[in-house]
Amino acid sequence: MQIKRHSILVVGSGLAGMRAAVAARENGADVAVISICQPVRSHSVAAQGGINAPLGNNPESKDDSVEKHAFDTVKGSDYLADQPAVLKMIGMAKETVYELEHWGCPFSRFEDGSIGQRPFGGAGYPRTCFAADRTGHSVLHVAWERSVKLGVPVYEDRLVIRLAVKDKKVQGVIVYNFRTGYLEMWECDAVIFATGGAGQIYGATSNALSCNAFGMAIAYWAGIALKDMEFIQFHPTTLYGNNVLISEAARGEGGYLRNNKGERFMEKYAPEKMELAPRDIVSRSIYQEVLEGRGYGTKENGYIHLDLTHLPEEQILERLPQIRELALIFTGQDMIKDPIPVQPGFHYMMGGIHVDENCSSKEVEGFFACGECSCVSVHGANRLGGNSLLECAVMGKIAGSQAAEYVKGVTSSSEAKNILFLELQKQEAKLDHLFSGKGKDDPFSIMEEMRATMMTKVFVYREEGALSEALNKIRELKKRFKEGAYLKSKVREYNRELEWVLAIEGMLDVAEVMCLGALKRTECRGCHWRLDHLGRDDENFLKHTLVNYIEGEAKLSYLDAIITKWQPKERKY
Ligand SMILES: Cc1cc2nc3c(=O)[nH]c(=O)nc-3n(C[C@H](O)[C@H](O)[C@H](O)COP(=O)(O)OP(=O)(O)OC[C@H]3O[C@@H](n4cnc5c(N)ncnc54)[C@H](O)[C@@H]3O)c2cc1C
Repeated sequence: MQIKRHSILVVGSGLAGMRAAVAARENGADVAVISICQPVRSHSVAAQGGINAPLGNNPESKDDSVEKHAFDTVKGSDYLADQPAVLKMIGMAKETVYELEHWGCPFSRFEDGSIGQRPFGGAGYPRTCFAADRTGHSVLHVAWERSVKLGVPVYEDRLVIRLAVKDKKVQGVIVYNFRTGYLEMWECDAVIFATGGAGQIYGATSNALSCNAFGMAIAYWAGIALKDMEFIQFHPTTLYGNNVLISEAARGEGGYLRNNKGERFMEKYAPEKMELAPRDIVSRSIYQEVLEGRGYGTKENGYIHLDLTHLPEEQILERLPQIRELALIFTGQDMIKDPIPVQPGFHYMMGGIHVDENCSSKEVEGFFACGECSCVSVHGANRLGGNSLLECAVMGKIAGSQAAEYVKGVTSSSEAKNILFLELQKQEAKLDHLFSGKGKDDPFSIMEEMRATMMTKVFVYREEGALSEALNKIRELKKRFKEGAYLKSKVREYNRELEWVLAIEGMLDVAEVMCLGALKRTECRGCHWRLDHLGRDDENFLKHTLVNYIEGEAKLSYLDAIITKWQPKERKY
């Protein structure tokens, strides 16, 4: 069987992956992208509100600076983010946004022609640059166009299912080709994972179906730790009923949150920042209002109102056209005239594959990761809105150039082909078993049970009893999956069921890591709120959680957060 080869393989064609591929190519490397989908169908395309940089274009943000943006990010992270990494990312923010502009990104603008900037949660100044409320669409398109210009090959309709590693060194990946229905071996000297988020573990999410944590699981199985996986961002304003995102830009433009008494309840929780407090705080506040009977719907599945009716119609039409349309389609409400129903939903994974500030793994040589699947960590325990697109663009660039540098010094392994072939055989056997349909447990019911468990027991408020139950339940589901998962569809080509079943195995392992991290972190930090351990515990938990996959089991350890400039303080807004 033929083996395909590129010096660097980028897995994932979202903003992080495309930016990494461009950087690797610009640094002279032989690089290719492998992805399930065409680049502009990646979840990055759905990003709405904007990308942060301290440009100082807004009249109110004239004295903004790298330091102020970095401080807001560190404070927003509840002091868990690694400060040198934050300073590095923000230090590159300005040039990164201008680079996207020069590549053709159609940013919204001020009268004087400079890039528009609006206020976002947890930020001291209005510094979120935007292209209406379709920022992800615009930045992903220009990154992809750039890759086309440079001739970077993109292999679509392919799912990476395993990383082949020997002696802690990357050899290549095993790929399911949707078009042929068969497995392929791809050899490389370095791999860059940019596989995106994990929202499908919860189901009630703003994330696309492809955000299934499978990439994280593949890295975990190959010996790389997952870091800080208990830190899950629940976005305060996803549409009630289907959790489609209503961007923070709605509040940035002046939207109010109101309870069933019509009160702007954020007054009680964050008197200064109000609706523009960071997301962890706003989500908890909404949840609290609902629990205390001041929401709509039930306590288990309640919502509050996002009210923009006081804003001028032109402002909504010009700055928020997409979310108005989304709300109109999905709820029938026109936000120009009526408040819309919103509730917290899974939005973003602060944790991810453990890499350093060069996006490089110390556990497996030749492995790099960037974007949402990775944890550098620049978001710590809570990410600020607008900082993720920034991370994808900056860290993508770093990952691509670092990988290009790395491969210059690597001689290709003569063993790679054999190692890949052995891995391929293992995976073929697994697929044969799934296709034989001998199991008895429907993997999709297992997935639904996992989702229900995570939604009820590992949500905004957490406590020991529920977390232990969740961990036990996930372990039981893992066992059931191993013993009994099967495929109904026997077609080899474009078998989307196969994609899901393979991903469910990964989701279960990642869910276990989330539960374990959450159970062991007996403090409140950022989005991780323990009702039975109120207060932040810097003495014991100013640390990143690491979980490694060792002989089939999840093993937990900790790593000190890097504090260089700002000592932790109480976090008030
Ligand atoms: C609705 C929404 C709105 C958002 N708005 C904003 C915003 O305004 N500002 C902001 O900063 N952030 C925002 N975010 C967050 C931000 O958009 C994401 O964190 C970021 O775009 C993730 O980019 P990525 O490149 O890491 O992953 P993605 O864009 O998700 O791309 C992942 C890629 O990996 C591929 N892939 C996955 N697994 C495999 C596999 N096993 N084999 C092959 N390919 C694979 C997928 O096909 C895809 O191409 C938003 C997120 C959502 C969901």
